[in-house]
Amino acid sequence: MKTKNKIVIAMGLCFMVLLSIATGVAAHNLIEEDNIEVVFKENSIFSDEEKHIIEASFNADSYHAQPYGLKCSLFGHDYKTEIVSVIRHKVRTAKPRCMRDTYETKICTVCSDTISTLIYSEQINCCD
Ligand SMILES: [Zn+2]
Ligand SMILES: [Zn+2]
Repeated sequence: MKTKNKIVIAMGLCFMVLLSIATGVAAHNLIEEDNIEVVFKENSIFSDEEKHIIEASFNADSYHAQPYGLKCSLFGHDYKTEIVSVIRHKVRTAKPRCMRDTYETKICTVCSDTISTLIYSEQINCCD
């Protein structure tokens, strides 16, 4: 009987730990996906990997600048450039609540160094 109780308590603890991990992960995803949306052109010149790096670059928390490679240090970066939209949801309390920022984004094809220059910002109606 005693062993059984211990097992029940241990299972309960495990469940609570799992639950807190699950909610922690869910809350983290929500912040990233709900607040910022990076939109690329349909036939984007950027590869999937480059898109991930660019998405991260708009998300200060998850962005870690890559160290420049030797080639870039010697000869400079080899950038490719495209227009990228960044939608920031629910940044305003009154309608329209969301903003769309248009950036000229360039990424180095060698070291993935990313630079985004804001071209213009507009308010958009998308969230209530
Ligand atoms: Zn470079
Ligand atoms: Zn929105």
